[in-house]
Amino acid sequence: MKIDTKALVEKYGTPLYVYDFDYITNRYTTLKDAFSGKKSIINYAVKANSNLSVIAHLAKLGAGADCVSIGEVNRALTAGVDKYKIIFSGVGKRDDEIREALQKDILMLNLESEAEMKRVELVAKELGKEARISIRVNPNIDPQTHPYISTGLHENKFGVEIDMAKRMYIYANKSEFLNPVGIHFHIGSQLTKLDPIRESAQIVADLVRSLKAIKIDIKFFDVGGGIGVVYDDEVTIAASDYTQAIFRATKGLDVTLLCEPGRYMVANAGVFFTKVLYEKNNDGKRFVIVDGGMNDLIRPSLYDAYHKIEAIGVEGEKTPADVVGPVCESGDFFGKDVPLPPLEHNDLLVVHSAGAYGFTMASNYNTRAKPAEVALQDGEDRLIRERETYEDQVRLELKYL
Ligand SMILES: *Cc1c(COP(=O)(O)O)cnc(C)c1O
Repeated sequence: MKIDTKALVEKYGTPLYVYDFDYITNRYTTLKDAFSGKKSIINYAVKANSNLSVIAHLAKLGAGADCVSIGEVNRALTAGVDKYKIIFSGVGKRDDEIREALQKDILMLNLESEAEMKRVELVAKELGKEARISIRVNPNIDPQTHPYISTGLHENKFGVEIDMAKRMYIYANKSEFLNPVGIHFHIGSQLTKLDPIRESAQIVADLVRSLKAIKIDIKFFDVGGGIGVVYDDEVTIAASDYTQAIFRATKGLDVTLLCEPGRYMVANAGVFFTKVLYEKNNDGKRFVIVDGGMNDLIRPSLYDAYHKIEAIGVEGEKTPADVVGPVCESGDFFGKDVPLPPLEHNDLLVVHSAGAYGFTMASNYNTRAKPAEVALQDGEDRLIRERETYEDQVRLELKYL
């Protein structure tokens, strides 16, 4: 990202999220091009970064949306995503969410249990509608990623096993109020190996073939998200290898291919800027205390995730320091033993790869206001979310005081 960081930070303050929209365009077109020659929709996983301007940017490029709450469905609609490109996934949908999704006539609800299917059928019946559904299959494949972001094993809460999926399709196909149009799997996040995806796609494609044999025609084959990105020195999956594996698994099937990348689209589009407040030394251990905290960017605390951190425009010999925030938790850190030059009050640090699961996981813990968000596009910067104020935070409480 080529930007005058000092000026940008001067203008918007810190802590601050900045997203390069040109990078997002590039990621979208790279993946979309890798699908060329096949019917496909890229359903951006809104939870990775649900800023309306980010979703709108992707919608303009032609992306659909993968949503995991009615709130996200509404964000996608507000941002201009075509309703027939919106999928609603998630293990725990409430009746009111199901009702609203059906009323808004989105592409399909992605079901994760038999009990949920029965609820959707009931709600659809009440509305006098036929619900388009897909079923999330849990292929029981080890995705070889961090256990917290693994979802494709039977020990994980997601999806249903193959035999159950088949029974559900047979049931849905007979129901007046259900229309089984899709099939889905999503085995985990930050996947850097192709084999688990390839194996899962083959298992699920075989299920589609066996459904076809009993006259249940699946139109949408959804391979989920999870393509890994480079945070440090990972070697990850190339878009063309990814699509070739999917093409091979689905050979001979007349389906529209769907995928749901979140992190792939936005992780490396974003950076997080934070300013140094103080340096301190505890018995030889160096700490750099910054104005951003775990409430702004929780990935290091939550997953022990690595984010590259650099000081901007500061020279000097680098020594290891823990970069920590002001939040009253020992887990409030962005990096451990980060090589950094001597730093002073107001020096600027950049935390890289912060575009995915950054702002969307931000909270108001310690009554800290959520940071502002800025977009960069065609050499211009623009605010896409204001910095929160104290008043914003207390608005829903103040009237009851
Ligand atoms: C989280 C999620 C995604 C996106 O995962 P990434 O690793 O960000 O690509 C896609 N689909 C479903 C169902 C998800 O839960």
